[in-house]
Amino acid sequence: MTTAGIITGGATLAQATVDLGAVAHNTKILTGCTTAQVMAVVKADAFRHGLLPVARTALSHGATWLGVTSTTEALALRAAGIDAPILSWLHRYDSSFASAITAGVDLSVSTVTHLHMIAAAAERAGQPAQVHLKSDTGLSRNGAVGADWPELVTWARRYELGGRMRVRAIWSHLADADSPASPGSPASPTVQRQVAAYEGALAVARAAGLDPLLRHLANSAATLTAPHTHYDLVRVGIALYGVEPIPGRRFGLRPALSLRSSVINVKRVPAGTGVSYHHDHVTGVATTLALIPVGYADGVPRAAGGKARVWLGGARCPIVGRVAMDQCVVDVGDAPVRIGDEVVLFGDPAEGDADEAGATEPGRGVPTVSEWARWCGTNPHEILTGLGARVDRSHKECL
Ligand SMILES: *Cc1c(COP(=O)(O)O)cnc(C)c1O
Repeated sequence: MTTAGIITGGATLAQATVDLGAVAHNTKILTGCTTAQVMAVVKADAFRHGLLPVARTALSHGATWLGVTSTTEALALRAAGIDAPILSWLHRYDSSFASAITAGVDLSVSTVTHLHMIAAAAERAGQPAQVHLKSDTGLSRNGAVGADWPELVTWARRYELGGRMRVRAIWSHLADADSPASPGSPASPTVQRQVAAYEGALAVARAAGLDPLLRHLANSAATLTAPHTHYDLVRVGIALYGVEPIPGRRFGLRPALSLRSSVINVKRVPAGTGVSYHHDHVTGVATTLALIPVGYADGVPRAAGGKARVWLGGARCPIVGRVAMDQCVVDVGDAPVRIGDEVVLFGDPAEGDADEAGATEPGRGVPTVSEWARWCGTNPHEILTGLGARVDRSHKECL
């Protein structure tokens, strides 16, 4: 099934393949490590893996909630016939909340301004809004800080008594659950402080008369390592896509997306040959250069030049010189690479380098998106969501 892409009258220059079997596998790992319900976070087109196929796969393998950042994404899920609970959490104050309420989409609320608008929309929709009040427990992004929290919960309770909303959840988001924990401590000091602040926010909400059925705080990293943050529901994003969320630790997740292209030109060049714009790279010895038709417009960061490696001819080969908008050059040494050979930029290392038991050594085989993130000075999320519009995407169904 191809869900995006441009018809180019033949092979596309870059292909993203999403293995839904890996999404299913990762969902099972995540549901297996908690007794809480699992929300599959499918914002940003499921981290560019495809909103609908990922949502359906996660729901049929143990996830019970979907999480998105906008009502637009939530309504797209409803329009496709998905009737699982959905939470949407970033809203202009003047969003068209009524359509979300009518569609049974839960709305996160962080300010009294939004709360009043949602109450008015519920009145128009003729049905109560299901809301999740968000407490800022230390991230300083969305959520209400301690000083504003009592007013938010008081108004919410008033609207609840008036039949305009039901406060289904109190929630918050962690700042650094993906930091490697210091030995002997279950989580970072920031996580501990945030849990304490969250407990405080819950107590204030209960004192105001609220009785939320759901409490949720954990992201992928906390789901895998900090059970005391699980409460009733965990929200998993990056781990669902098979990216190990904590540097240096492995939980058996399988990368779901691989980015491929193929060699379109090969040339033997002497030592001293300048490569790509401004000749940032000059060959040290005679070597073979392979041209790959993907560049920064496709999501290969310019920062990858001279740093990243691709899987080509059964080995890791470096990208040399500047990455251009549409192409980049790979130094393959003396390998017998030919026009048409497949290149895997990133994907599942098991594909290139599994031993007989299916195990892989870190740093070998097909590069992972985490390695790409390190090479480019960013995080895996940015590499995945940065894949360009002309990358053709297809899905391998899970069995
Ligand atoms: C993106 C997001 C998540 C998922 O985080 P991961 O670290 O990718 O698991 C969870 N909660 C909120 C509020 C988010 O914005």
